[in-house]
Amino acid sequence: MQNLVILGGGYGGLRAIQKLLNEKDVKQVSITLIEKEAYHSLKTEFYALAAGTVADRHLRMSFPNDVRLELKFEPVKSIHLDDNKVELESGDFIPYDDLIIGLGCEDKYHGVPGAKENTLSIQSMRRARKTYHVLQGVRPNGRVAIVGGGLSGVELASELRESRPDLEILLYDRGENILSMFPARLYNYVTNWFNENDVTIINRANITKVEWNVLYNHDEPIETDAIIWTAGIQANKIVRELDVDKDQMGRLFTTKHHHLPNYENVFVVGDCAASTHAPSAQLAEAQSERVAMLLNKKWKGEPYPEEMPKMKLKGVLGSLGKKHGFGLMGEKSLTGRVPRVLKSGVLWMYKHHSGH
Ligand SMILES: Cc1cc2nc3c(=O)[nH]c(=O)nc-3n(C[C@H](O)[C@H](O)[C@H](O)COP(=O)(O)OP(=O)(O)OC[C@H]3O[C@@H](n4cnc5c(N)ncnc54)[C@H](O)[C@@H]3O)c2cc1C
Repeated sequence: MQNLVILGGGYGGLRAIQKLLNEKDVKQVSITLIEKEAYHSLKTEFYALAAGTVADRHLRMSFPNDVRLELKFEPVKSIHLDDNKVELESGDFIPYDDLIIGLGCEDKYHGVPGAKENTLSIQSMRRARKTYHVLQGVRPNGRVAIVGGGLSGVELASELRESRPDLEILLYDRGENILSMFPARLYNYVTNWFNENDVTIINRANITKVEWNVLYNHDEPIETDAIIWTAGIQANKIVRELDVDKDQMGRLFTTKHHHLPNYENVFVVGDCAASTHAPSAQLAEAQSERVAMLLNKKWKGEPYPEEMPKMKLKGVLGSLGKKHGFGLMGEKSLTGRVPRVLKSGVLWMYKHHSGH
């Protein structure tokens, strides 16, 4: 009996489970998922949870119920690569034959003093829930600062605009434009939306220090009622602590077969894996589908394919509140209602295919 352990039941972990359980051949395998929460979290929607437009019960999903799958809802403490075992916070050790690491990411504070201690986050459900409580408690006409004008900062700012029309919302970004990784047509559209909806964008920002409810931009203090950090991510701490090769975001380098170069039985997916693609749920899922295919081959004693199948990444969709959105599908930029409807459709399909 093969003993596969999966760390993290996010987009990558869940997709690996679904794929492996759907394989008719996968009978002689026991899969153990170790996940710190008792549910799969729809992280791509955490901006709406934090803004108060979606209840968290809509962003939780149960894991599959299958005799081949054991669920352990406990935090992982560390991974012992040379001993093929995982240590849990409880002090228990879980041995594995094969391991998939899908522990996701954390905020990266770029060494800005006080940022970690004094800002709110939307990187985990618990932290997004806390952000929600603080934001809903902000005094009437209060001021909220969001640091980071990437996808999650933009989605949060627009959703918060709709949820709390009274608030002054400041969106700080260090680039010349928000969403600088997107084509000009898209960021111009989003910038106009913010102008029309009274969200202030501060470009070329340089946050030098954060104190409780005080943000320093180029050393200039700005009083706020809440500060949310969406200005960068890094791999989960457990992964960053491993003594193997990593990129600047602490993500692990893998071979084309998605395992660690010196550990053929340790696969890495999603935000924990170094990649030339932008981190995304889609990427985590695509990598996990490949890993499931490779594990199947391995367990049947078949060789891995020399050339891996191409990963099909469909593009990015972002929301601007509940009615407008933007997206990039290949070379094609989308703006307005269509990408927003598509985004809702993708979420519906995801829940539907996962049995909800
Ligand atoms: C606001 C926001 C909007 C986004 N929008 C999009 C989007 O529109 N499209 C898109 O493709 N991507 C989007 N992303 C990015 C996407 O959510 C991530 O890239 C994706 O979640 C990565 O999947 P993963 O499986 O690597 O990690 P995750 O989905 O984060 O899963 C990691 C899992 O590990 C668990 N875990 C962590 N630490 C431990 C531990 N110590 N012990 C046990 N379990 C642990 C967590 O609870 C979690 O369930 C968005 C992200 C954010 C924050």
